[in-house]
Amino acid sequence: MRWVPAAAALAVLLAACGNGIPTASDGRLRVVATTTQVGEAARGVGGDDIALTVLLKPGAEAHDFEITTTAAAAIERSDLILESGAGLEVWLEGALATIGGRDRLRDMSQGVDLRDAADADDAGEVDPHYWLTAPNASRMIENVRAALTEARPDLAGAFADRAAAYLARLEMADVEIRRLMAEIPEQRRGIVTNHDALGYFLAEYGLRFVGSVFPSLDVSAEPNPAQLAALADTIRGEGVVAIFSESAVSPKLAKAIADETGARVVDEPLYTDSLGLPGSGADTLDGMLLHDAQVIHDALVAD
Ligand SMILES: [Zn+2]
Repeated sequence: MRWVPAAAALAVLLAACGNGIPTASDGRLRVVATTTQVGEAARGVGGDDIALTVLLKPGAEAHDFEITTTAAAAIERSDLILESGAGLEVWLEGALATIGGRDRLRDMSQGVDLRDAADADDAGEVDPHYWLTAPNASRMIENVRAALTEARPDLAGAFADRAAAYLARLEMADVEIRRLMAEIPEQRRGIVTNHDALGYFLAEYGLRFVGSVFPSLDVSAEPNPAQLAALADTIRGEGVVAIFSESAVSPKLAKAIADETGARVVDEPLYTDSLGLPGSGADTLDGMLLHDAQVIHDALVAD
């Protein structure tokens, strides 16, 4: 047996440990995904071939994120950073300016036909919630596949196979969502949500946006009394029966509006900014969309 000097052994050990942040990924591609949706797309396409860190946790709204030291470390040691894009992750810009990594950043909204923000508060912005249709979620899967393949061309086949399986599931979900929406009578297709997250879903599946409790694309601005009164008038005028709550947004104001107008808040939340918890059934892209479609269907199809 060869004698290893203690100092050399220590040096090897230190090199392996680095700065205390685990660097081992078994040679796998180290991927950081920002939102739960992008994380799920990366998991679906990358499978066990990638070492994945998802920054946002289920249940958090996606417009704000405090970069923790753990998150910063994951970004720093990543090979690839996948963002949802379309203006969602303003919180990532500053972090990347400090940590570096812009060259490893890929935008998963590429090729999506982005909608302009509906509200004057957000004039000039695009609506970032594009993942809430099956065709756009499919585009996200395709973008993830392209980004992973660019980084690891040797695994192109495995990525393509998993992407194809996911796309097939999304296509089935799309058919089912259209079937459910077709059952909602025309005059009941006006929708009020908690924040303005459903624009893509409503446009894709033939529903109508009546208003949102929070008057913008994110929940940073609380509605003022005049805005709430105007929304209540619209709800009465349009005969809206249900106000939809969201898993990541407090339903308190929605409940107040509902009390005032005689509409009801649908208890089962829609998943918009976040996927559901593992095992909820809304923890995949197709599961999230099917869940939302079912909740909307059940609330609006006449009892
Ligand atoms: Zn949102």
